Amino acid sequence: MNFEVPALPYAKDALEPVMSSKTLEFHYEKHHKGYMVKLKAALEGKPDADKTLEDIVKSSSGGVFNNAAQVYNHTFFWEGLKPGGGGAPPAGDVADLIQRDFGGWDAFRTQFIQAGMTRFGSGWAWLVLEGGKASIVSTPNAETPLTGAGKPLLTADVWEHAYYLDYQNKRDTFLEVFCDKLINWEFVAANLKG
Ligand code: MN
Repeated sequence: MNFEVPALPYAKDALEPVMSSKTLEFHYEKHHKGYMVKLKAALEGKPDADKTLEDIVKSSSGGVFNNAAQVYNHTFFWEGLKPGGGGAPPAGDVADLIQRDFGGWDAFRTQFIQAGMTRFGSGWAWLVLEGGKASIVSTPNAETPLTGAGKPLLTADVWEHAYYLDYQNKRDTFLEVFCDKLINWEFVAANLKG
């Protein structure tokens, strides 16, 4: 695998004012890249170094899993954000899915925020597709739906490092902003199709 994290799909100040460039500087440069540095060190000279990141996530455990899954989860998280994003999804397959499986945007938004708020400690809130049905789940620490049956469509990082510089302890405000100002619905639509 390529032991470089992908470039961010936007400039570090592109999500201002709802996610500051300072947050991006620490979260992307230090946390996300830091997981990759540790993964690279752990796999140096090992046969698993030739696997894809997704295969490593699916087949590893312990420290290798934690770092590989965090690299995967963060790349997925960044792709799910965009400047001026969020709010109800535009008319199309994603809007239809959210209407069918949650009863609409307001109910989806409430459930997604709830999933992030009830994850004790560090983890992730996810929109996943399983057996053709959309649902919202949360995972602790580095855990990821990639190891289960659900296909990830969108995620919010609810580790404190994701929001503390901008919102301090207010995880709820961060999740509201994520829903209302940041979701990249085109990314969700591409995952739904893919
Ligand atoms: Mn993070």
